[in-house]
Amino acid sequence: MSDLFWISKAGMHELAHLHFADAESSYTDASYAVFGVPYDGTTSFRPGARFGPRAIREASFNFESYEPSTGIDLCEVPFTDLGDLGVSKVPEDLVGQVADVAGEIAGDGKVPVMLGGEHTATVGAVRAVQPDVYVVCDAHLDLRDELDGTPYSHGCVTRRVLDTTDDVVIIGARSGDREQFEVAAERTRLYTADAVRERGIAGVLGEVLAHIGDKQVYLSIDADAIDCCLTPGLGTPEPFGLTPLDIREVVRTLAPHAVGFDYVEVAPFDSGQTAAVAAQMVREFIARHWIAER
Ligand code: MN
Ligand code: MN
Repeated sequence: MSDLFWISKAGMHELAHLHFADAESSYTDASYAVFGVPYDGTTSFRPGARFGPRAIREASFNFESYEPSTGIDLCEVPFTDLGDLGVSKVPEDLVGQVADVAGEIAGDGKVPVMLGGEHTATVGAVRAVQPDVYVVCDAHLDLRDELDGTPYSHGCVTRRVLDTTDDVVIIGARSGDREQFEVAAERTRLYTADAVRERGIAGVLGEVLAHIGDKQVYLSIDADAIDCCLTPGLGTPEPFGLTPLDIREVVRTLAPHAVGFDYVEVAPFDSGQTAAVAAQMVREFIARHWIAER
């Protein structure tokens, strides 16, 4: 073997972890385009979500390409990974950058699949995709009009989404001030973490599905929707939340209706649990969406 061979083999090995596992398709052929947003500029408690996309990609290589619950082998699904956005430090600029990328992907007839990064990025993706319904799983209401001097803080995401999409469903929330809970009651369909526990996720999703009908959904998963005792790699950890199985049920149920998806707020300073769940949910989203289209 020539030296060149080994250099290129080493290069391929290195590259393997810079994209999501099995995302081997060209952009032209892809039905799904993964991209990362390594941004945590407005973090208020514990920084680190900027390392989320990298951790999710790394975790993705742990899994078999075969997805047994759908019978889909992800090697056979045309999807690509565009890499990470070179992010602006200014949150409103970041939102614009994400809107540009997600808009281009959606305009090319593909589904954007975004890896966060803090939740702020979702505002741009939703603006670009313009769904009928926005469904978010989050411990937090994210309904502040402004936080730390910016309306584009991670604590304002759902409020900004309401500027362009008036049909909003929140699942798993258990944190917000009184004013935010009033806004939620008035302007959203809120299923708190307690409601999910009382009714079961299947009951909640049945009602959400009936509401959605044949409308187009943008699905955003803030990693902290899951109880921090289960997935602790989070910037703003909250206990008494949803389980990974609840989130999987949300993804399985809503993926067929989705025109865009993100998994955000993974701050991977744990034993890898948070990124592992995220990577599996990205895989499951793609498999479930793909099989529904066939
Ligand atoms: Mn959030
Ligand atoms: Mn949150």
